[in-house]
Amino acid sequence: MKYISTRGNAPKLAFDDVLLTGLARDGGLYLPETWPHFSPADLAQMKDLSYVELAVKVMLPFVEEVVSEDELRQIVTDTYGAFESEDVAPLVKLGENEWVLELFHGPTLAFKDYALQFLGRMFDHVLTKRGAKLTIAGATSGDTGSAAIEACRDRDNIEIFILFPNGKVSEVQRRQMSTVLSDNVHNIAMDGNFDDCQAIVKALFADEKFRDDVHLSAVNSINWARIMAQVVYYFWAGLRAGAPETSVAFSVPTGNFGNVFAGYAAQRMGLPISQFIIGSNANDILIRFIETGRMQSKDVFATTSPSMDIQISSNFERFMFELMGRDSSALNDAMQEFKDTGHFSVTDAFMDRLKAIMDGARFDDETTAQVIGDVYKESGYLLDTHSAIGVGAARTRRWDKAVPMIILATAHPAKFPDAVKAAAGVHPELPSHLSDLYEREEKYAQLPGSYDAVKGYIETTLKERGKL
Ligand SMILES: *Cc1c(COP(=O)(O)O)cnc(C)c1O
Repeated sequence: MKYISTRGNAPKLAFDDVLLTGLARDGGLYLPETWPHFSPADLAQMKDLSYVELAVKVMLPFVEEVVSEDELRQIVTDTYGAFESEDVAPLVKLGENEWVLELFHGPTLAFKDYALQFLGRMFDHVLTKRGAKLTIAGATSGDTGSAAIEACRDRDNIEIFILFPNGKVSEVQRRQMSTVLSDNVHNIAMDGNFDDCQAIVKALFADEKFRDDVHLSAVNSINWARIMAQVVYYFWAGLRAGAPETSVAFSVPTGNFGNVFAGYAAQRMGLPISQFIIGSNANDILIRFIETGRMQSKDVFATTSPSMDIQISSNFERFMFELMGRDSSALNDAMQEFKDTGHFSVTDAFMDRLKAIMDGARFDDETTAQVIGDVYKESGYLLDTHSAIGVGAARTRRWDKAVPMIILATAHPAKFPDAVKAAAGVHPELPSHLSDLYEREEKYAQLPGSYDAVKGYIETTLKERGKL
């Protein structure tokens, strides 16, 4: 299996190069040249597999040129064996033909662990084989940073630097990063806001000499390996809810569109999915797109579901490429227009294809809180703010009640305790492995919001570590 760029102007790569490269050289995102396919008979046989064995089955076709089945099994066993739930991703009944897929049983309590724990191990595997080293730099407004740090801690081949805006992430989120004391983990609390952190990381990547000197790489969701690992839990949940004998529907609280795109990939691979519902908070660029066929960016608002506070959904490019029949030149035109004018439109035919499989709804902070309160009253189940948007969207946009509806619960309620307490009247408790989080020792550097300060800190630290 080779990978191609959505923009059609970068070399085809094998899986290991796609893993280490992230963004394609032409600015596009990598996708497999063809989709592997499982027949209904294949799917029926996959029903009884454990999460680990299912993950091997689903991911092997994507990696087999460079990772053997045994190697993959070892990486996957190591990845998901450490998860808190034996099921890895439990499917919990919420209402009539309505299920919640709990994706918060990894070390940092958000679904990003399902992909990043795998990614960290896959990086390690490929780097060890090549005798190579990597420096990872990323900016975070909360969840991604802690998941990436947990995934990369104590790995000899990786040094990880995470920038977060000083004083502007929640205490739980800061502590999930700063209490990791491993020598290869470097937290930076920077003066400024998230966008300032992001701008400095982008500048580091644009500095070609620095980038080459330190072997800079990224862990954001443009990395194909993250999407690939997420495809697995769509199969897992779909088969448990009745596929392939019945089709299923998924509702997904959405930010960068990576999670929904993994569901689309599962559909292309043969899982019978009859509807996707995307849930947005007040940052509703995708909902407005579904309503109007026009993608138009606006300012970002701070909401009670901060992991979805984004303006541009970077993974939507992969979906567009697919719905445009993989026409790179049409995609390039749309992307150029977006860059020049801040908006683009698509054809009616494109919107017809999209609306045949997808619907969406927006929830502001108040209606999100209402869903948390209602669900807690009706069933005693405590949702976090992001997952609540998934449940709310599923209940307002469901096409067919006879089709099992699976809502992805993307975070544990204890990650957002204040908003959950305000909505449901109960304080969500942290799971036992994090119950002493507030007593643990913290370690992080505090730096001014300047490019030279951050770059200097990274260079000095790498030299001290003998990596530069
Ligand atoms: C990252 C995140 C999302 C958004 O996922 P995308 O793949 O970016 O659409 C939703 N909920 C939580 C809790 C997250 O951390």
